[in-house]
Amino acid sequence: MHSIPSDEDSDETPVFSQSNVDAPVSQVRLEVGMEFETLNQFRKAVRKFNINIGRSIFFARCDSTRSKAICYDEDCPWQIYCAKRTFPASYQVKTFFNEHTCSRDSHYKSADEKWVIDELEERIRVQPNLTVREAD
Ligand SMILES: [Zn+2]
Repeated sequence: MHSIPSDEDSDETPVFSQSNVDAPVSQVRLEVGMEFETLNQFRKAVRKFNINIGRSIFFARCDSTRSKAICYDEDCPWQIYCAKRTFPASYQVKTFFNEHTCSRDSHYKSADEKWVIDELEERIRVQPNLTVREAD
C-alpha cells in the first residue's frame, strides 16, 4: 500500500475508523456513520472519548448487535448509539448527540486513564444491569 497524501484542511473523516480505537485518548473521535469492527471497539472508543473530555458515561443497553451509551447525569442529553449492520458487516454509529450539559468530572480528569478504562470494564462486567434509568 502506498501512503495516502494527507489533507490537513479537510474535515472529511474516513468512514471506516476502527483504528481510532487504538488512538491516544486525546485523539479519539466519534461521529455518526463511523464504523467499528466489533462492539467492544465501539465501547472502548466511547470510553476513551469521554475520559478525554472528563465526563462519566455508562452503557445503558448492550447486546450482541447494539450498544447505547448515555451520560451518568440524568439531565444530560449526551448519548451515542451503535448498531450492527449486515452488509458490509460492521457496527455503525447511528445516533450521536455530542453535547454534555453536565459539569466536567474532576475525578476522571485526575485519574489515570488506563485505570479508569479497566475500572469501567470491570463494573460493566460485574453489573451488566447497571442501568440506572431506561433511556426512552
Ligand atoms: Zn454529560
